[in-house]
Amino acid sequence: MKEAICKIPEPVNESQLTYSPGSLERIELKDALEKARSVEKEIPMIIGGREVKTDKKIRIHPPHEIRHTIGYYYQGGKKEVQMAIDAARKAKENWLNTSWEERASIFLKAADLLSGPYRAKMNAATMLGQSKNAFQAEIDSACEMIDFFRFNAKFMEKIYAIQPNSVKGIWNRTDWRPLEGFVFALTPFNFTSIAGNLPTSPAMLGNTVVWKPSKSQIYSATVIMELLIEAGLPAGVINMIFVSGPDATEVILNDQDFAGIHFTGSTGVFQSIWKTIGQKIGTYKSYPRIVGETGGKDFVLVHPSADIKQVCTALIRGAFEYQGQKCSAASRAYIPDSLWENIRENLKINLDNLKMGPPEDFSNFINAVIDEASFDKLSGVIEKVRKDKNAEILFGGNCNKTNGYFIEPTVILTTDPHYYTMEEELFGPILTLYIYPSDKFDETMTLLNGTSKYALTGAVFTKDRNSIVRAMDKLRYAAGNFYINDKPTGAVVGQQPFGGSRGSGTNDKAGSMINLLRWLSPRSIKENFNPPADYTYPFLAQE
Ligand code: NAD
Repeated sequence: MKEAICKIPEPVNESQLTYSPGSLERIELKDALEKARSVEKEIPMIIGGREVKTDKKIRIHPPHEIRHTIGYYYQGGKKEVQMAIDAARKAKENWLNTSWEERASIFLKAADLLSGPYRAKMNAATMLGQSKNAFQAEIDSACEMIDFFRFNAKFMEKIYAIQPNSVKGIWNRTDWRPLEGFVFALTPFNFTSIAGNLPTSPAMLGNTVVWKPSKSQIYSATVIMELLIEAGLPAGVINMIFVSGPDATEVILNDQDFAGIHFTGSTGVFQSIWKTIGQKIGTYKSYPRIVGETGGKDFVLVHPSADIKQVCTALIRGAFEYQGQKCSAASRAYIPDSLWENIRENLKINLDNLKMGPPEDFSNFINAVIDEASFDKLSGVIEKVRKDKNAEILFGGNCNKTNGYFIEPTVILTTDPHYYTMEEELFGPILTLYIYPSDKFDETMTLLNGTSKYALTGAVFTKDRNSIVRAMDKLRYAAGNFYINDKPTGAVVGQQPFGGSRGSGTNDKAGSMINLLRWLSPRSIKENFNPPADYTYPFLAQE
């Protein structure tokens, strides 16, 4: 539409369905799970709108059921990376000439499709492929992805409306250009919504994208692609390739049109990519935008005034939901000695009741960790703790990979506040506790702030107003998302823009205008309605 200043509908966060017994959504989801389990899905790459297969087929199985095959994907290499770059380049001009309202409408339609007919299919794919229970899949692959699409479209409208002042005779404008070149979206396994957001947010703004999902998320990534295609995304705007990380970076980071990377994943991988970009900076036509949300070592700090049940609920949900495989998962907690005995008892009661098993059985709170490498790493940590003198396994610690990669929710108690499980990201259902003297709350904040290189999320539990004020101040840089009397996970698009600093990322806040601005290169335009026709100025005149 040409003659209109369109308004994007005001976004409202997608309501979470409950999946309680007897609900329609539960019936639909069980149906979708059954359907997905009963076929072996063939998953090609999508490059330039075409399905691309190779002679290398890789089997996909649920992390919780190693012997059950749910599909195969076709593994590509450098050739397919180059094809994806070429397809992104080719699609650019048409996409640039598509009006922003038309682009927005594609993603708004995707949100509606996901809210309706795609919901059960997307959630079932996430449950099976990434071992999430129904609730964890619902808040991720349905609600958060829908929110990303709807809120980003609104933010786009708001950004375009940001225009400069003009004075008499002059009209100033800002042309919010997409970047020159293509964007590389490199996504993690743990959130289907992040996998959906990283390629689509730059694309919405007129960029074309090469998207490499994590190999452990390909099963739901393909549903994202199906959704976008059904919503009307033109060929070549987002090109999904299944290649190794090194193959992707080797080709992409050597291309002169590489305009930016939208990354979420581990800190080490991000730092190595940043380094390569630095080394190759002379290769590119523009300075590439580097946006990365990375690891965390997220804390819960308990004040002696805190409510014990609230603390324990936050620890259980914050540390163990989705098996602790959230960048925001609580993984270190500071407990005052005055509350310790009661907290210990309450944690035990809760942990004794937690059920672990496949997500198809809705009574399981805990499912499997993502793959064998993760299982081996986490069980190795638990074994090491068993041998160390300054730490002990308080609860859990059992690991079993006979049928799937199951690690029991595990609580470590340490006497060393710098014990390595207080410092390093483990990315699994492991929480380490440190007990501090109750009269040393302020000193403990100093300790916490200087422990670990990360600064993603953190929470303080307290009933004492003064301690809230002190924590907000002292821990100002310890977390990009700070929670008062709430667990440190579960940020909602449009409500708590998400991202951390220090070793946790560039803090460009996914699901906010701040993030979208990184995919734009504004052009300032000045139009003079009455250009001067004489070069002299009054001051040059004779006295
Ligand atoms: P990962 O770093 O292993 O993988 C992320 C992506 O990078 C994947 O697509 C992977 O294939 C690719 N990759 C891996 N090694 C590579 C290499 N050498 N070169 C190029 N690409 C490579 O991360 P993951 O295991 O998928 O996800 C877990 C990590 O992501 C955790 O550290 C977690 O904290 C982080 N994370 C952060 C946020 C956030 O918002 N801060 C959100 C989700 C996950």
